[in-house]
Amino acid sequence: MSQRGKVTVVGSLNMDLVVKAERAPQKGETVMGEEVHFIPGGKGANQAVAAASLGAKTSMIGSVGDDPFGESLLSSLQERGVDTGTVKTVTEASTGIASILLSQGDNRITVVSGANSHTLPSDVEQHRQVITGADGVLLQLEVPLPAIQQAVELAKKAGKTVILNPAPARDLPQDLLEQVDYLTPNRSELELLSGISPEKEGLDRAMGRLLDRGVGHVVTTLGEDGAAYLSPGEETVRVPGHSVKAVDTTGAGDAFNAGLAVALAEGGSLEEAVRFAGKTAALAVTRLGAQSGMPNREEVESFDQ
Ligand code: ATP
Repeated sequence: MSQRGKVTVVGSLNMDLVVKAERAPQKGETVMGEEVHFIPGGKGANQAVAAASLGAKTSMIGSVGDDPFGESLLSSLQERGVDTGTVKTVTEASTGIASILLSQGDNRITVVSGANSHTLPSDVEQHRQVITGADGVLLQLEVPLPAIQQAVELAKKAGKTVILNPAPARDLPQDLLEQVDYLTPNRSELELLSGISPEKEGLDRAMGRLLDRGVGHVVTTLGEDGAAYLSPGEETVRVPGHSVKAVDTTGAGDAFNAGLAVALAEGGSLEEAVRFAGKTAALAVTRLGAQSGMPNREEVESFDQ
């Protein structure tokens, strides 16, 4: 891994409204909350911030509303070095929101996609140069599938590396899977996409099924157990997790995906990229906040736990 890679992220930007309360209200009831926090989030934005923090030249394609939350999300990306010139501001919808109620160690989350659902294939087409000029294109599933398909197709035609984090879980069309170089599910996404339970029938079989469906390589994240990957004609490789004191695992998957994309964009091998991703994610879980907890390059390189 050597020179600075270029990574383009196509995905969501959300403002997370986190309310802490003693308990969740019952039907028709009002309870008094204790704290409220406004935290920049969205899988796309989290992954873009993480990639930029790791030193990649990072651009983001997505949409926000014409409102203060949208402005605040854009500033938080810019402060971390993400080029937001390719994020659209829409007037038809407000910025995406995740309303998160934390009570008694549990959380209840409602997501309103808002502006994210206005990211269209034409937006991707309009910014085709940030896709064809990137080394790697990193996508998730919080923006409409047609925009994702368009970006994947453009990237593939230009010979760029396509990394798809299939979150939140949903089934995907065959022709999309066939164009993905690296698919990065967690355990439950792997089960949904493969139709095979990794716990009952084994990771090998589940990941193998996705290779059969045309994916280039499968990298499964396994929480504190680390990750496993499988390439065609090879055996499954397990990369153990790092033993750290987890403070906030929100965005662990986002940190992992960014680490993987940055290392691959720099020409690293899959093994190097999975190890780099695991360190990035382990550091991220030791800190509060998805975006604010993303580590920088130096921290990842000197991490040896
Ligand atoms: P999230 O939805 O919380 O972002 P995810 O379900 O997409 O996460 P996980 O498999 O939980 O993804 O975690 C992603 C990666 O983060 C793991 O592969 C691992 O490298 C790292 N990780 C997660 N939890 C821990 C932990 N407790 N300790 C160390 N590393 C962790």
